[in-house]
Amino acid sequence: MKKIKKIVIFLGYKCNNNCLFCINADKRSYKNKNTDEVIKEIYKAKKENADIIEFIGGEATIRDDFLRIIKTAKNIGIKDIVIATNGRMFSNLEFAKKAVDNGLSAIIFSIHGHNAKAHDALTQSLGSFEQLVEGIKNLRSLGFDNINGNTTVVKQNYRHIPDIANLYVKYNVRNVEYIFVDPCYGGAYNNFHKLVPKISLASKFMKKALDIGNKYEYHQWKVRYVPLCYFKDYLDQISEINERILFDTKHWAPDFIDNDVIRGRTVYARIKTKRCNGCKLYDICEGIWKEYIKYYGDKELKKVI
Ligand code: SF4
Repeated sequence: MKKIKKIVIFLGYKCNNNCLFCINADKRSYKNKNTDEVIKEIYKAKKENADIIEFIGGEATIRDDFLRIIKTAKNIGIKDIVIATNGRMFSNLEFAKKAVDNGLSAIIFSIHGHNAKAHDALTQSLGSFEQLVEGIKNLRSLGFDNINGNTTVVKQNYRHIPDIANLYVKYNVRNVEYIFVDPCYGGAYNNFHKLVPKISLASKFMKKALDIGNKYEYHQWKVRYVPLCYFKDYLDQISEINERILFDTKHWAPDFIDNDVIRGRTVYARIKTKRCNGCKLYDICEGIWKEYIKYYGDKELKKVI
């Protein structure tokens, strides 16, 4: 089967939120790519036959050239133009309309709390939840349906992951990823103990969230960056397994190029330990973050027989 070619263009690391766990927390002062650089990359992606371009930041929507970037990708015939966003700019209906009119085809909203207090505490940005919810409502009012979600699972929110799942149900978000926090860089690297929960605890709530989705037939809800021993009954809802089968993904950032994202992650960032020997999921499992093992050890990993 031919894989879907997805190129993720990182526009820069500036953001109007300041999430505690942000992987780019130490890169805020880096220079954003300028318009010409981004447009050149869009053409390069087209030349490489990209099916999908995903624009991420930082926060893509706060750039002055955001609409022009989307329009350029649309005009040269990129099939799917996706952004990952904190959603705040979409609280402006006029902006939301222009984004859709210019060719945006899918939006991934990041929801990290089950209510304003919890979300805003994690984003360190008062009003960010209210604006995000307004953004979803605005897009729905425009008839825009391709609304997706992601949630980073950290110590502060893991017990409320099922409540966040209920929010996704409320807003009919059919494609969601619950992402176990990456402690290899940024906020969670700098403050591991403050932010990173034990997988043995967090997984219970992540599974409850998947169960809520499955009850409503949202079978595209997935978990990411988890050791499979905690999700052995949910193997068709593991992002990485899906990603390996379906996608050929490249990351083009201001400070790095990764033309084989899956290999990069499995070789440099995640680990299986001696406790995994003989596990029947060994070949499809990426293990857990190396940084996690450094602090919590590998005692929670339990081979599947
Ligand atoms: S024991 Fe290791 S290989 Fe098996 S599922 Fe757990 S992390 Fe993966």
